[in-house]
Amino acid sequence: MITGALLVKILKNIAIKIHENKQLLTELDAAIGDGDHGINMNKGFTAVSKKLDEIKSHDCGEILKTTAMTLISTVGGASGPLYGTAFLKASIVAKGKNELDKGTIIKMFDEAIKGIVMRGKAQIGEKTMLDALIPAYEALKESLEQGEELSTAFHKATDAAYEGVQKTKDIIATKGRASYLGERSIGHEDPGATSSYLMTKTIADTLI
Ligand code: ADP
Ligand code: MG
Repeated sequence: MITGALLVKILKNIAIKIHENKQLLTELDAAIGDGDHGINMNKGFTAVSKKLDEIKSHDCGEILKTTAMTLISTVGGASGPLYGTAFLKASIVAKGKNELDKGTIIKMFDEAIKGIVMRGKAQIGEKTMLDALIPAYEALKESLEQGEELSTAFHKATDAAYEGVQKTKDIIATKGRASYLGERSIGHEDPGATSSYLMTKTIADTLI
């Protein structure tokens, strides 16, 4: 179970993790994009962290909706609306719930990915955040369906996300700014896949 208080803690830890990796994300984006992914994500999650200090509600839907709206309104660049849509879709599943059980978490993750696909029109294998998120979701779902603990499932999801990030090195980008580079995008990890991995890892580490 993830309570509202734990969800806030997870989101605040994501803000810390993104802040610690701001430079890395920016360097990855400088290689194949415009070098702002770390700046964008840090700006967004710093704002989220502040907003969550004011939130009194224990409704997980409210917490995630606040996160989504803050990301959409503060993050410039493609990643803001994409992550914003993901959190918004998850918030709809979580609406009215003070606790998230395993089934709800699977559904939230699934809807979040569908939101990113709807918004960005990418699929797996196009060198985007989806290359980390889809394998992470599949590993999470499989683990939870086998009856494993939430923290175990998120650690497995983290490993799958990490593998997904590594695979983005071998992929030519066909979506987003990196697609302008064509073959020259090969050899570089995708920054958005890396931020997705960092978020998954933070959830896993907070659940321990
Ligand atoms: P921008 O590309 O506008 O500068 P960011 O640098 O913040 O925005 O984010 C870049 C990341 O966004 C990429 O590394 C990629 O993972 C993700 N991204 C870009 N376009 C798409 C898309 N259509 N679908 C999914 N993810 C995408
Ligand atoms: Mg960028």
